[in-house]
Amino acid sequence: MLNSTLVGRIEVTPDLLILQVKPDAGVPTFVPGQYVALGLPGSAARVEGSKDEQEAPAPDKIIKRAYSIGSSPVQRDYLEFYIAVVPDGSLTPRLAALRPGDRLFSQPKVTGTFTLDGVGDDRNLVLVSTGTGLAPFMSMIRTPGTWSPTRQITIVHGVRYPSDFAYADELASYSEGGRKFTYLPIASRAAEEFTGRKGRIQKLFESGEIAPDPTTDSVFLCGNPAMIEDMEKHLTNTGFVVHSKKTPGNLHIEKYW
Ligand SMILES: Cc1cc2nc3c(=O)[nH]c(=O)nc-3n(C[C@H](O)[C@H](O)[C@H](O)COP(=O)(O)OP(=O)(O)OC[C@H]3O[C@@H](n4cnc5c(N)ncnc54)[C@H](O)[C@@H]3O)c2cc1C
Repeated sequence: MLNSTLVGRIEVTPDLLILQVKPDAGVPTFVPGQYVALGLPGSAARVEGSKDEQEAPAPDKIIKRAYSIGSSPVQRDYLEFYIAVVPDGSLTPRLAALRPGDRLFSQPKVTGTFTLDGVGDDRNLVLVSTGTGLAPFMSMIRTPGTWSPTRQITIVHGVRYPSDFAYADELASYSEGGRKFTYLPIASRAAEEFTGRKGRIQKLFESGEIAPDPTTDSVFLCGNPAMIEDMEKHLTNTGFVVHSKKTPGNLHIEKYW
């Protein structure tokens, strides 16, 4: 049942982890933006400092949750995930206790429709995330096919504290070499002396600092449901249409809870 090995563990902060997972069967086929379930048995240890969960699971039950893949499908060594530890959560305090070499479950079948499939190469991408909602966008921009020469790519990453800006150096590096790329990190609880952008993501859109055009741009929203609900209202009022399989649109949404 435990069909994968943790091969890398990076602590962005004690509550934000980048986990690299190698499935025994090899990295499955997927497209950027998709997700898999990870799992551990109820008997797995919880990380030190976590809170009690509401109900203790049966020791032999595999607790499974969905996680967006952050690595590119062209990278075949492991699947990367960016995971927030929910202190009283069922799975994440157990994932946080894992160390390289430890075993876990990863679902062999990859799923999800939060992808660039059907989005024309000529459309600009505005990729908006809170917290670990950045993961699917890392997979997209790490994949060469996303970089069509005619498109502008903007990544907006909203976090609470500046220490939560995972992947900041890598993201800043995409602006080099004449690429049409903008990285807009914004922290809602930054200290007075912080010189970067402060506030909530919504502010960047309401002030007009970012003003996507529904005729040329596709917007992707991922992460915290409160940000997504606010942004969905704002963007549908400015002409965007929520995408679904039945009715293709230019506003793509992935809520994490
Ligand atoms: C399609 C999809 C993709 C997802 N991808 C990711 C991902 O890449 N990274 C990731 O960290 N989570 C992701 N999630 C959320 C993930 O599936 C779990 O819900 C989360 O890890 C909490 O699991 P848990 O068992 O520890 O908590 P549970 O005991 O299940 O408690 C759930 C509660 O935790 C809180 N919560 C859930 N997710 C987060 C989060 N990311 N940040 C802060 N609080 C949260 C909410 O209050 C939620 O009600 C995704 C969810 C979906 C539906």
